[in-house]
Amino acid sequence: MTELRPETRTVHLPRPSLNGSRPIAVPIYQTSGFVFEDPAVFAEGMGRPDGAFVYGRLSNPTVRSLEEAIAGLEGGVGAVATASGMGAINSVLLGLLKPGDHLIAQKPLYGGTAAMLNDLSSRFGIEVSYVPEDDPEALRAAVRPESRLVYLETIANPVTQVADLPGMCAAAREAGLVSVVDNTFASPVLCRPIEHGADIVVHSTTKYLSGHTDVLGGIAVFASDDLYRRVWHFAVELGATADPFAAWLTLRGIQTLPLRMERHCANTRELALRLDNHPAVAAVHWPGLPSHPSHALARKLLPDFGGVFSFDLVGGRAAGEKFMSSVRLALLAPSLGGVETLVLHPATTSHRSLTPEELARHGIREGTVRVAVGIEHIEDLWDDFSQALS
Ligand SMILES: *Cc1c(COP(=O)(O)O)cnc(C)c1O
Repeated sequence: MTELRPETRTVHLPRPSLNGSRPIAVPIYQTSGFVFEDPAVFAEGMGRPDGAFVYGRLSNPTVRSLEEAIAGLEGGVGAVATASGMGAINSVLLGLLKPGDHLIAQKPLYGGTAAMLNDLSSRFGIEVSYVPEDDPEALRAAVRPESRLVYLETIANPVTQVADLPGMCAAAREAGLVSVVDNTFASPVLCRPIEHGADIVVHSTTKYLSGHTDVLGGIAVFASDDLYRRVWHFAVELGATADPFAAWLTLRGIQTLPLRMERHCANTRELALRLDNHPAVAAVHWPGLPSHPSHALARKLLPDFGGVFSFDLVGGRAAGEKFMSSVRLALLAPSLGGVETLVLHPATTSHRSLTPEELARHGIREGTVRVAVGIEHIEDLWDDFSQALS
């Protein structure tokens, strides 16, 4: 069979086999363990991610369907599903690094990841250097003999910088480093980092992959069998692996991922363009706009530019706070990737611990509003945004 496209792969998920037939929808295997007739099969299943099902922390048929589905979408050889995005990120980092190792990460970074990297350096003896997301030369210059891993994000939060995945992953490979890419904001519909040279892709499946704001989850996808097995062993030790019900909700969401992404992107394009021409708005940050610093790179890497953008209000912090209390349809909430449009004011919420200078280094202003655009009718969204701005 020819390679299936994401629109088809997401509909035809890996279905577990029964005696002579298979369920159309993947069932929830709500069991913590499995029984054996053959002790040899039992023994053999313990040590590997793809053997017989033994115990829920090691593997589960619903969870494995999710792992196979996302590994297929990302073009990896295997995947480890976890209880949250941070569970996947930490299984990879702690599973592959040891004290004395050096890690090179891009800045900007997702807040939870940034906090974890601080912990790695202050408590676990793992040094971290930061480089811009689109500067392979800076990466080469940061490499040391003890460097092991490079950490990138396809699209960053909240001003949506796009990483130079081909350039950065090639520089990592030349230096013998493992490259890890957080692909949460793009989803495998917009970007498959393994095609650009990444060794490991991580997701918060809480976001676009599940898509309905009703479940937490994460996954790490691997380009090589060796990395897959090492991280699986560690995730099992750590107890970070996924629950079957959460995996099932995520599988259900994935079936409509390409359709949802199309609408997320189309709505975002329209809002970004209209806000860019609004007198109350000083700047709009979305890689689909020619004014965005990542625009040229984004056009090479992505077929569309995602459902998250931010904009700076002319009126600064006061205007940001006013906007938050004036929206009626858009919800004031953290997170992204669900069907409903969410707004937040980074200066008073997600980035409140930063000084104005630190905010500026992240490209955030006191009047910046971050929008995770949903799949509502664009005119209803625009009516809400324009009334909130006036
Ligand atoms: C949400 C998010 C995470 C963390 O995922 P959780 O499911 O909340 O643990 C990691 N990276 C990015 C880019 C995210 O948006």
